[in-house]
Amino acid sequence: MALRDIVGQEKAVAILKSYIKKEATPLHSYLFLGPRGVGKTTCALNFAKLLNCENPSPEYEPCDVCRSCKAIEGGYHPDVQLVSLPLDKRELGIEEIRQVRQSAYTSSAWGRWKVYIIERGETLTREAADALLKILEEPPQHCLFILLAPNIGDVPPTIASRCQILHFPPVRKELIARFLEERYNLGKELAYSLASLSEGRPGYAINIARDEKIRKTREELLNWLANMPINPDYALQAAQEFSRIASRLEGGEERDKIQQCLLFASSFFRDLLLLRLSGKEGLLLNYDEREKLKKIYKNYSLTFLHSALNTLQRTYRLLQPGSNVNQRLALEVMFLDILGGR
Ligand SMILES: [Zn+2]
Repeated sequence: MALRDIVGQEKAVAILKSYIKKEATPLHSYLFLGPRGVGKTTCALNFAKLLNCENPSPEYEPCDVCRSCKAIEGGYHPDVQLVSLPLDKRELGIEEIRQVRQSAYTSSAWGRWKVYIIERGETLTREAADALLKILEEPPQHCLFILLAPNIGDVPPTIASRCQILHFPPVRKELIARFLEERYNLGKELAYSLASLSEGRPGYAINIARDEKIRKTREELLNWLANMPINPDYALQAAQEFSRIASRLEGGEERDKIQQCLLFASSFFRDLLLLRLSGKEGLLLNYDEREKLKKIYKNYSLTFLHSALNTLQRTYRLLQPGSNVNQRLALEVMFLDILGGR
């Protein structure tokens, strides 16, 4: 993958390339801002490729075949480190930043740029942020730091003020759909649905496109929702069934899987609401399932759909990573609300 393949982030890519074009020394610290899945990590990795490529093209693209490009693609380049939030942690702590510091002050193994890409900057603990700030204040030569976060307010102003800030806005769904069709050979309708569901985040859509299991789980969940008895007596069983379907997703924490299924469920009720209100099927998130949706939308009142959507969104917020809310209880309350509210 090269910089030109990054979907819909032409502006950020052009700015990064301009450093190389001017043959200026790139700045040492960057802050990439945008929602998760919008292309920040992909762009950072490809910038690292370009900086270290042995044979970049005249259009300032990494060659993708030299030793360095292959090592970055494979995740084993000794000078390019992706610092991610450990799976079992909710914060990026001082240990992770200490490791960065130790490594940054040693010389580069392959003699070019050392690049540190720090994901989920919004989860840096105060101690970790202070340690990072110290590194950014006196960056070692030939070291480049790219911090990723959703919004400017998510990182301490002392850090943001030392960084070149690049914005990664949500991508148009037509662009994402076309990319999914071409790269992943998806049918038009599924590509369009995934692009709509992704809300402008190609990474989210690509994850689903790549992973048949997620697609199957989404299908199973939508089928189940379409046949769910609207009866408060079914609430506890519904909560269990919802968790069971979510648990079939692979990888990640249980809470992430629940969050993913809450998003799918929201898209289902949002589509039914849309059909009730306007009947414009072109705007459906689950466009590939439109025949099924059109058959059932009249069974639900507007009040029911509004309230179901609100309840789902509230539960989604309650179960954000880092919260201590009891997950089972939250789902049971959610289904009691939804199924009692026709
Ligand atoms: Zn190369």
